[in-house]
Amino acid sequence: MAKSSRRQGTHRAATCARKLLPFVFVLCIGLCFAMKQTACATEPASAQIKVDQVGYLPASAKIAVVTAPATHFEVKRASDDSTVFQGELGPATPDVDTGDSVQLADFSKLREPGTYYLNVPGVGRSWTFSIRRDVFSHTYYLAMRAFYGQRCGTAVDLGPEFPEYKHPACHLKGEFHASSGKQGERDNVGGWHDAGDYGRYVVNSGIATGTLLWTWEIFGARLKGIKLNIPESGNGTPDILNEARWNLEWMLKMHDDDGGAWHKQTSERFPAFVMPEDDHSTSMVVGTGKEPYKSTCATADLAAVAAIAARVYQPFDAKFAARNLEAARKAWLWTEKYPNVTFKNPPGVTTGEYGDDYCGDERLWAAAELWRTTGDPKYSEYFVKQYPDFRASLEAMTPEDWKDLADMGLWTYALGARKGSDPELLADIRKRTAQAAQAIVERTRKNPYHVSLQAKDYVWGSNGVAASYGTELLVANALSPDPAYVATALDNLHYLLGRNTFSLCWVTQVGANPYHHPHHRPSADKTREPWPGMLSGGPNAGRQDNVLRNLPQGLPPARIYADDQDSYASNEIAINWQAALVFLLAGTLPVN
Ligand SMILES: [Zn+2]
Repeated sequence: MAKSSRRQGTHRAATCARKLLPFVFVLCIGLCFAMKQTACATEPASAQIKVDQVGYLPASAKIAVVTAPATHFEVKRASDDSTVFQGELGPATPDVDTGDSVQLADFSKLREPGTYYLNVPGVGRSWTFSIRRDVFSHTYYLAMRAFYGQRCGTAVDLGPEFPEYKHPACHLKGEFHASSGKQGERDNVGGWHDAGDYGRYVVNSGIATGTLLWTWEIFGARLKGIKLNIPESGNGTPDILNEARWNLEWMLKMHDDDGGAWHKQTSERFPAFVMPEDDHSTSMVVGTGKEPYKSTCATADLAAVAAIAARVYQPFDAKFAARNLEAARKAWLWTEKYPNVTFKNPPGVTTGEYGDDYCGDERLWAAAELWRTTGDPKYSEYFVKQYPDFRASLEAMTPEDWKDLADMGLWTYALGARKGSDPELLADIRKRTAQAAQAIVERTRKNPYHVSLQAKDYVWGSNGVAASYGTELLVANALSPDPAYVATALDNLHYLLGRNTFSLCWVTQVGANPYHHPHHRPSADKTREPWPGMLSGGPNAGRQDNVLRNLPQGLPPARIYADDQDSYASNEIAINWQAALVFLLAGTLPVN
């Protein structure tokens, strides 16, 4: 999410697969002709038939979008091109967000596990997809391992599945920046690179790490057996918690002795587009430049995340859990003393700012997590007193993000209901959350693409917004179960995995037609696929980079996107969007 530097002189080398495409096409057409079929599994897919390229759950709705005029469709088995389902396309509906004329192909009744594609006479065939109960398991695995790929201060190696995806330890030199109130060298090992750049930011770490810890709390039964093949695998702790701990340990290092947390640790300027081990700039602990040097938003985020950690690590490492609880309490005390110290980049520092002029919502989240963990009435008293100022945020038709964390506070109060929780508040949070979820469900049903995004949501990181609508719906389902919430969360996942106007799967190396060129420094080598499992930022009507500014004027918002490394405003990756994707994917996995 950090604004990153630009790189000049883009020239995209064709991938091997693209070079082979004409040959495959001729071969396929020949085969199809010989077999006298209208489509076969090796025929190039039409971008006008949009499917979730990963697939669909057997018992869930299965909808594809067709944007060329046609009347009916067939679902064919990929292995032998046999027809297993036939149906009529729905009426053409104009979609203002994309400019497309949309017809829906509904094959929900097909439940038999397998690998399939759609054939639409007069249009062509779709990319293949699967129907299976564990259809999203591998995507979850890659999306979680993408965090491992972002680890800083250590050698990273994705192993035999991705043999070329590794690098030696990076960013080993750290120092206190003058703005931090301290000076001298600083241990620099730990944390995840935030995005396409190599900075680390406590505020964005807050929502990203908090979301992963919640993923474990809410969906642990689905995740406990999933091995991520990371260095800690097999140590007795679930791997999602092993991976989250890598960043949490760094967040704890950002905690000063007085209880406050420094805002970020980055170089002074964005590095060149180089591999992490080739960025030799010093990583600075950056503060506010004057007393008390730490920022309230960062400190409250640390308090919230450490309070969750005190709960979830308890069964696996009680000592680590206790260390987190102590840090959370200490950070909370600091925010009582300094309730709104905000952060701006000090002179000479131009990396991401993650500026936020109001830290009341971060404090609400911290108080609620501390109450949920400890049952100490001082935290609930604060929460109850603040509640009237924040309850309306549940009705806002936008999901939580790194800057707006009130929903996380309100939800955790309700999810962690305990003796002493205010019953009226609990009922009110449940009611407001359900009403918001219901409104999102209805809106999504009316959207031609069946995505929860509205025109105003095509902002920097719109794919993260789509994933966060999924988070919101799955949290609503955890509070008041409703199959429509889960179905609508899945709709947003289908959008991200290929059922969108570009027919692109927005997770690297996933699906038959993934995007190729994220704004992500370790993926700069365009002769090979990018690092796997990473969610793109997505369409952005704000056009804050030159690639987007050069797209035709008048494009509808959902089309303002470029699969271009230089388009940091539409094609960067970031840990907060990634965490929302992981949460959404985890909610689809089978319980083992
Ligand atoms: Zn690094």
